[in-house]
Amino acid sequence: MRNRGVIVVGGGIGGLSAALALARQGLRVRVLERAREFGEVGAGIQIAPNCTRLLHEYGLLTEATALGVLPDSIIMRDALDGSELTRLDLAGLRRRYGFPYMVIHRSDLHGIFLRGCAQEGVELLTSQLVTSYENTPAGARVVLADGSSQDADVVIAADGLHSVARQQLIGDATVNSAYVAYRAALPIDQVLGNGIARTDVVVYIGPRCHFVQYPLRGGEMLNQVAVFQSPRARDGREDWGTPDELDAAFGAACENVRKGIPLMWRDRWWRMYDRDPVTSWVHGRVALLGDAAHPPLQYMAQGAIMAIEDGWVLGQHVARGAGWDAALAAYQAVRAEHCRRVVLTARKWGDLWHLDGAKRLQRNAILCARDTHDYSFTDWIYGPTALTPDQEPPLYPDIPLDSVQPTVGA
Ligand SMILES: Cc1cc2nc3c(=O)[nH]c(=O)nc-3n(C[C@H](O)[C@H](O)[C@H](O)COP(=O)(O)OP(=O)(O)OC[C@H]3O[C@@H](n4cnc5c(N)ncnc54)[C@H](O)[C@@H]3O)c2cc1C
Repeated sequence: MRNRGVIVVGGGIGGLSAALALARQGLRVRVLERAREFGEVGAGIQIAPNCTRLLHEYGLLTEATALGVLPDSIIMRDALDGSELTRLDLAGLRRRYGFPYMVIHRSDLHGIFLRGCAQEGVELLTSQLVTSYENTPAGARVVLADGSSQDADVVIAADGLHSVARQQLIGDATVNSAYVAYRAALPIDQVLGNGIARTDVVVYIGPRCHFVQYPLRGGEMLNQVAVFQSPRARDGREDWGTPDELDAAFGAACENVRKGIPLMWRDRWWRMYDRDPVTSWVHGRVALLGDAAHPPLQYMAQGAIMAIEDGWVLGQHVARGAGWDAALAAYQAVRAEHCRRVVLTARKWGDLWHLDGAKRLQRNAILCARDTHDYSFTDWIYGPTALTPDQEPPLYPDIPLDSVQPTVGA
């Protein structure tokens, strides 16, 4: 039978990295992207060792390292008083997991995958709005907005948070967290007087808000992300997340954070939704991948990484040569559970970061007691990506807040 190959819908980081993984297995791959050009909106992105390991395997890590930054530490601070709560030594992390923790501009990471796809012969098609999906006797079909259709052995739907495929195949709703993110990527000269750390990822956590800073592009730029709970979203209003809410949310923050807030991009913001996990990503020969399958809140910085892992896992199962049905079943068996854990943990971490009052002090006491070289919270996520459910490591140990007394005045 003629090889009709694979269609990947969506040319974000998830779609392109999946296309690359499958093209490397010798498959004919087409990417259908609705936009007129391939590209990424947004500023920086953090990629942990479970992602740089895969970049290395694809032969892309050297290029990524040249474009990104390898920070020294991740430092968590209290957003109200600025005090350091805990830190991860990233040199130690690299020794433990064999690959670095990196921060990189989104467009650079996206560009690396785009060039990788072109080199592997992936057909990269823009202005292709997919409106529906169907299984056929020999594979699957996508229908486009212009009424045309395209057939393939398999269709991978990597069409993001508001996925048409997800709507058609599962029909669930997104979950509104009532939090909103502002971003900025700034020339470093503009922020030198703001108490920034030039070689670290710094996360300030506070009541109903947090603020992240890290260097980009060889340290020439600083990335900032400001996230807060919108009072208007909680009141059920439509006009939520606007710049006046940003300023109010960080009014009580420490000086370093307050200096960063006026520099956020104010003409756009990202309302934050996730979805409740589902276990059925594969419907015949149509499979969900990336945010279409498991959109998280971004508190674990694993959304794009999970998407990249999805494509790699699928490629590895294709390589086993047992056919598409076996490969898709194996993909779903291991990835749905892993991503369920990440999505639910991200929600929990968000709750923990945003605590107020006595619970904030209890949280701070737990973080302050953590040893810098304690990896029990990262082993389940930064180690090698599991290919089968038995390879999935156990989840991290739970430490109840009530197990500590709040440190008064902390
Ligand atoms: C503030 C913030 C910070 C984050 N930080 C991190 C981080 O540090 N590390 C990390 O790993 N993740 C992070 N994430 C999450 C990460 O950005 C996403 O999980 C990831 O980009 C999802 O990639 P994707 O390719 O699945 O989806 P998307 O990037 O949404 O791509 C979907 C693509 O499909 C196209 N498309 C949509 N519908 C159609 C259609 N009908 N037909 C054709 N094409 C279509 C879109 O145009 C788009 O190009 C963060 C997210 C946010 C909001």
